[in-house]
Amino acid sequence: MSQTRTYLDYNATAPLRPEAREAMVRALDTFGNPSSVHAEGRRARAIVEEAREAVAVLVNAKPSEVVFTSGATEANAWAISGALSGQWAAILVSAAEHDSVRGPASHYAALKGIRVNELAVSVDGIADLGQLDAPKDGSLLLALQLANNETGVIQDVARAAALGAEHRFSLHTDAVQAAGRMVVDFRSLGATTLSLSAHKLGGPKGVGALVIRDGYELPALIPGGGQERRRRAGTENVAAIAGFGSAAKAALAELDQMSRVAAMRDGLEAEVVRLTPEAVCIGSDAPRLPNTSCIALPGQAAETLVIKLDLAGIAVSAGAACSSGKVGQSHVLTAMGLAPDIARSAIRVSIGTATTEQDLAAFVAAWNAIGNAGRLAA
Ligand code: PMP
Repeated sequence: MSQTRTYLDYNATAPLRPEAREAMVRALDTFGNPSSVHAEGRRARAIVEEAREAVAVLVNAKPSEVVFTSGATEANAWAISGALSGQWAAILVSAAEHDSVRGPASHYAALKGIRVNELAVSVDGIADLGQLDAPKDGSLLLALQLANNETGVIQDVARAAALGAEHRFSLHTDAVQAAGRMVVDFRSLGATTLSLSAHKLGGPKGVGALVIRDGYELPALIPGGGQERRRRAGTENVAAIAGFGSAAKAALAELDQMSRVAAMRDGLEAEVVRLTPEAVCIGSDAPRLPNTSCIALPGQAAETLVIKLDLAGIAVSAGAACSSGKVGQSHVLTAMGLAPDIARSAIRVSIGTATTEQDLAAFVAAWNAIGNAGRLAA
């Protein structure tokens, strides 16, 4: 097994930024409870509020609109739990949503006795906004992600919000993969709620935020305390929040490097297709995040490719999910209508500003060996 590792799985989690680590260590030593009125408490409160400001700036929201959560899974569930207050006649989710959106949509819709409908995506992974129509019997919650975790394909959330304004929609957008990789502007997107996760942008795991448009009433998912202006009970995870704020600042400062990242990704895809002409770069005709590449090698199982690459020292993910020993097919790639041999063989390569040409050369060399050995064996 190779000694040096090449990490190309930023969409699963990005490496912790050194400045986020430092902010966290400093915050750990600021032991006060941010709800306490004394000086120790006020110092901890100042850390939380500085981070809130940084997260708000990252997505052009007001600090008062940012509520810290335990991550984007909680933020997505919370946004969709709004169904319980009875304002929507149905929930509409794009077919490419993350499970942390799909799961709560089914759960809360079943509790409330309302429908969940799916908004189809095209072969490029783009949601068909032409299908948007408000139900006759009331308003609707639309969940439309800003960018997909498997393909990087970007949805036209602003257009959906504009259509929604005509049809009485509320719009929740999962911006987890987009934040720090493209401009995310909560104001101009027009979404009602937007979810974020720190660990996708170089912060720690287990902290995220739900951004809630001012004036929108969303009952707390976790009641039982006055924290976060009664919107999310529980003593704040001050160190994690500090790391999130610091990572948000750093990610924003690096946004101007994204065209360089996109050029690296495009170069990688060109090499892959040159070496293995049967390879398919999924979603490459659609607007995409600059850092994500979803590559299929028909005839190979994605899980096998991931294991072989891992043995060669390279960390990537399979598009297809494998749980409890059962190899499943990615619902995202299936919804795009891709042939099963393409969907089953898709891996995801996702990079960041710290990725180097050497990292990509290591991937290409391993891919060439694996892809062409596979061809000889087939
Ligand atoms: N949404 C998307 C698009 C994601 O990629 C992820 C992380 N895999 C989540 C939500 C969940 O985020 P967290 O890990 O913070 O719960």
